[in-house]
Amino acid sequence: MRQVYLDYSATTPVKKEVLDEMLPYFSEHFGNPSSLYSIAQNSKQALDLARERVAKLINANPNEVFFTAGGSEADNWALEGILDAHKDKGNHMITTKIEHHAILHTGEFLSKRGCEVTYLDVDSEGFINLEELESAITDKTVLISIIFANNEVGTVQPIKAISEIAKKHGVFLHVDAVQALGNVPIDVKELGVDLMSMSGHKIYGPKGVGALYIRKGVKISNLIHGGAQEMKKRAGTENLTGIVGFGKAADMARENLDEHIKSISQLRDYFIKEVQEKIPHTIVNGSMKHRHPGNANISFEYIEGESILMLLDMNGICVSTGSACSSKSLTPSHVLSAMGIPVERIHGTIRFSIGEFTTKEDLDYVIEKLVEIVGTLRALSPISAEKGWN
Ligand SMILES: *Cc1c(COP(=O)(O)O)cnc(C)c1O
Repeated sequence: MRQVYLDYSATTPVKKEVLDEMLPYFSEHFGNPSSLYSIAQNSKQALDLARERVAKLINANPNEVFFTAGGSEADNWALEGILDAHKDKGNHMITTKIEHHAILHTGEFLSKRGCEVTYLDVDSEGFINLEELESAITDKTVLISIIFANNEVGTVQPIKAISEIAKKHGVFLHVDAVQALGNVPIDVKELGVDLMSMSGHKIYGPKGVGALYIRKGVKISNLIHGGAQEMKKRAGTENLTGIVGFGKAADMARENLDEHIKSISQLRDYFIKEVQEKIPHTIVNGSMKHRHPGNANISFEYIEGESILMLLDMNGICVSTGSACSSKSLTPSHVLSAMGIPVERIHGTIRFSIGEFTTKEDLDYVIEKLVEIVGTLRALSPISAEKGWN
């Protein structure tokens, strides 16, 4: 049976070139980068090179890139570290209702510790309102944290305009760029962000490694305490193999960025067009204009997303309903809810995410199976029957 992976927003496979670069650092060049003898110098150099490569992808200076154990740690660190370091100024933070759980749950944690968190609404395409953002700022506001490209619907926020508002009011801006990295051109200097979260496994690197960009001069408390690694800001012997892999993946993403965006978005547009032509009563969620190139979030009216997912899986096709994190529960996605999508429609929503190894033939196979599956499910659905759809 054909296997088609359309869940690149959940994770990506490690590219062969990335794995090849990682392998020697498991046993051949195993030295601790902090050791002073010469055999550890290979490790130190590899660490420096990875930092330069990640920095180059986002136009940062290498000393502004701090490796972490992934995107979630970077998100936790940005919020907790900034609120702690600037508590003399205030205890207020602004974020959105459509963040990844690594932000939302950190926000809840901070609230329990006496911080005040404002969650901005979004419109039907998933955009925040800039006037609402500006009027939410008070003299106690320390941080604004906004997701760059949304992981469920792919909506890309106007980060430059947001950073201008943050600057005008002297508030720090953190951006969760885990989905945007390698899929949207990012220049931290041009965008004017103060902190930015990244992750290796969403850009064809290994899992369990990521980074936080911290603009030079931004004061932040440490999250992990211990040794002097990561310029004394993030303790713990470095995940050298992971970091080397993340560095290589970042380098490949930078070299291939324009071509990647062009080819992936072409496939995505083809897929959306075919699905809408061949399957009636489907709705594409999110913005068509400012969208992650690989994201196709589609509602199939009056049938269950869980059923579609299971039948696709039986045909070797991997997708997710709303988001991977809520796939085990039937609570409707918080992102789609915030966009005002009715619960019944949310339950019939599938996220297809296209990536570098997706082919047009893969998509044709998925479309063929989707037509069958949606047809079968609608034939069984009393609501569809009532409406005369089958
Ligand atoms: C995947 C993801 C994260 C978490 O990154 P991990 O490296 O898996 O911890 C955070 N934010 C967004 C938007 C993501 O898609």
